[in-house]
Amino acid sequence: MIALFAFIFGLVIGSFLNVVIYRVPRGQSIAFPPSHCPGCDTHLKPMDLVPVFSWLFLKGRCRHCGAGISIRYPLIELFTALIFLLLSLNFWGWQLISLLILSSVLIVAAVIDYEHGIIPNKLLLTGFIIGLIIFLFRPVLPLSQHLLGVLAGGLPLLLLAALSRGGMGGGDIKLAAVMGLYLGPKLMLTALFLGSLLAGLTGIVFMLAGKKTRKDTMVFGPFLALGAVVSIFWGREILFWYLSMF
Ligand SMILES: [Zn+2]
Repeated sequence: MIALFAFIFGLVIGSFLNVVIYRVPRGQSIAFPPSHCPGCDTHLKPMDLVPVFSWLFLKGRCRHCGAGISIRYPLIELFTALIFLLLSLNFWGWQLISLLILSSVLIVAAVIDYEHGIIPNKLLLTGFIIGLIIFLFRPVLPLSQHLLGVLAGGLPLLLLAALSRGGMGGGDIKLAAVMGLYLGPKLMLTALFLGSLLAGLTGIVFMLAGKKTRKDTMVFGPFLALGAVVSIFWGREILFWYLSMF
């Protein structure tokens, strides 16, 4: 029952995340105007806003002008629902609530970074403040661990940015700091390690395929987010396995 509820809740939140992903980088308000077709400006009725189903029913086209609606919309809704479902099966209470918020921030940050090469400050600040309020009153780890996590996330990338002079964006540094607040230092460092590994491997694959050269910059946000998601579910096992090697 809880899993089904989490899945449906995830679909609804995913639909909201789509709005945030589209509007925030364009400097538009997320509350006003109500959802409308970017092609013909027609206001969409609730029937056209049902997550996933409306897209399937309309076969990915606007009911009024026939403009194509990207498959990205239902995919993000489904992905959010899946993450919410998995989180609800593995966590509970304030930890679950905080992880639902973190994963929402990560999904938005990853898609916007992939598309625009930036991670909006508004998003990161919102995620940081909500996290801070939750952990001040209902810390999942000791509060000091949450704050230490901010340093564990932000400092390594800040150092890397200073050394590489522009190789690492400010958005990535701030995203890692927000992740650290929620995850604490151990899982944060695991996430950073996994994200760097995934980014490195992807970079090598692209270079071998001749699609990129070493000089091309690659967005790091999506890899950081992926590293965080993996470490939320399997970070403790990965950390245990890693430490047991010494
Ligand atoms: Zn339209």
